[in-house]
Amino acid sequence: MINIVLLGPPGAGKGTQSRILQEKFGLFQLSTGDMLRAEVASGTELGIKAKSIMDAGGLLPDEVMIGMIKDRMSRPEYSSGIIFDGFPRTVPQAEALDHMLMDAGHQLDAVIQLTVDDGILLGRIRKREAESHITRSDDNPDVLIKRLAAYHAQTVQIIPYYQSTNRLFAVDGMQPIEDVAQQVCAIVETFA
Ligand code: ADP
Repeated sequence: MINIVLLGPPGAGKGTQSRILQEKFGLFQLSTGDMLRAEVASGTELGIKAKSIMDAGGLLPDEVMIGMIKDRMSRPEYSSGIIFDGFPRTVPQAEALDHMLMDAGHQLDAVIQLTVDDGILLGRIRKREAESHITRSDDNPDVLIKRLAAYHAQTVQIIPYYQSTNRLFAVDGMQPIEDVAQQVCAIVETFA
């Protein structure tokens, strides 16, 4: 079983790389953003709460996210390995993930950080907006700036946690998709 975290700012290409890894290694992508959007779409109590936080570019409470992941991880489709996309986003989430995997007799093998400059991310989203490709209510330049701020304030704090346990691998996410994919796959290959 291989367990990988894909880490990177909003719009870094985590979803694209997850799909490639899913196909190549038979891992399953677990995207907390997708899970939350499904809650919003079905109008659950959690979905209603989540929507206002997501549209403001904020983060949901750690205990909500940890509970969600715990429940999902135990499903049989995830037994051959998981690509975590969008989780962990805070140090308590990172610690909880290690505990949950350990309790199940597994471990987190690698954290692959896709690095992309903020200016490039804003350019990508402005382009999508200009071409009317925006399909999410939190995908507009104003909210992106807030999501980036949450990334820099909270999520980058998990980097030293993973560096200190030799699990962090950085890949330049500004290269063409195929080049990023090749480097990401080469890292995962070492754990296969
Ligand atoms: P992005 O494309 O910005 O990386 P995601 O689709 O992963 O976005 O998540 C969208 C929103 O869902 C986030 O801006 C946040 O409000 C919420 N969210 C997703 N994952 C988490 C998490 N692990 N902890 C807290 N909030 C989360």
